Amino acid sequence: RSKSAGRNQATQFDDALHQAVLRNMGLTQALQQSLAAGEGLSLVYQPQYALEGEQRLVGAEALLRWQHPERGAVSPTEFIPAAERAGLIRMLDRQVIEMASRQIGDWKRQGRCTRISVNVSANTLQWEGLATFILEQLAAHDVPPHLFGVEIIETLLLESSRTTIGSLLELRRAGISIAIDDFGTGHSSLGYLQDLPVDTIKIDRSFVQGLEEGKGRKAPLVQAILAMARALDLNVVAEGVETEAQRAWLKHNGCQTIQGFLIGRPTDAGAFASSCLAELSSL
Ligand code: C2E
Ligand code: MG
Ligand code: MG
Ligand code: MG
Repeated sequence: RSKSAGRNQATQFDDALHQAVLRNMGLTQALQQSLAAGEGLSLVYQPQYALEGEQRLVGAEALLRWQHPERGAVSPTEFIPAAERAGLIRMLDRQVIEMASRQIGDWKRQGRCTRISVNVSANTLQWEGLATFILEQLAAHDVPPHLFGVEIIETLLLESSRTTIGSLLELRRAGISIAIDDFGTGHSSLGYLQDLPVDTIKIDRSFVQGLEEGKGRKAPLVQAILAMARALDLNVVAEGVETEAQRAWLKHNGCQTIQGFLIGRPTDAGAFASSCLAELSSL
């Protein structure tokens, strides 16, 4: 009896595994088709505001959205890892760089733009053609490099190779901003901060949440990060700011820039232009 129950469980497990594999295959295939057809992929933009003085737009993050032909919107937290596993991530990141460049070029021609940062995956950063590709895209769309930034995650910097450092140096020298995303969540040795041409760190949302309650060690940790950033002359962006109390705390403690639902959700290009870019004086 127990033997057959065991077999039954094994079958159920196989079924679940099979379903998961199928789902992943379907996802990957559909993503590949979207990439090939240039359909279903778009960018949304989330504003970043300086806290000092009058709150002022200083940049935005471009975030990828994918509309699956049958399933509708799929979260990047699902399809980005799937693309990484399937070897599609470089193609996807290139697509994002191209879409962002074109959009920045359009906004610039219309007279109002801010710096737009894109996320670049670990794998793409290992591609020796990355810096050249970015600079070509910017040139093709008549975008000055100071209007472009890249965000890279901390964990990958620990594996930083000659290629990675070379790409980052080339981009930085051209005037492109380089931010470390999700700062504080990797297994940091802080050594890379002195070796790599990084100009900005983004404090991860997990540190910002509950910050104002003054419980635990979040507040002193964030204060330490802010002090370190000041000493190293790095810009700081706090991610995932959702409450007025969090904003007040960050401002009081000398954080320069915030991003989060409190001041703006990611929105499509049209909405971003009319709600955020419209405030800027023309270029
Ligand atoms: P990330 O780069 O750290 O982006 C921030 C994420 O936090 C975004 O989720 C954003 O919508 C969300 N967020 C912003 N403000 C708040 C807030 O106040 N509260 C909360 N709860 N969430 C907030 P999203 O768009 O789902 O993206 C998730 C992750 O997927 C990104 O994390 C990034 O690692 C990756 N990703 C997104 N777009 C791209 C892309 O074009 N290329 C690559 N390689 N990765 C991307
Ligand atoms: Mg990011
Ligand atoms: Mg982040
Ligand atoms: Mg993140």
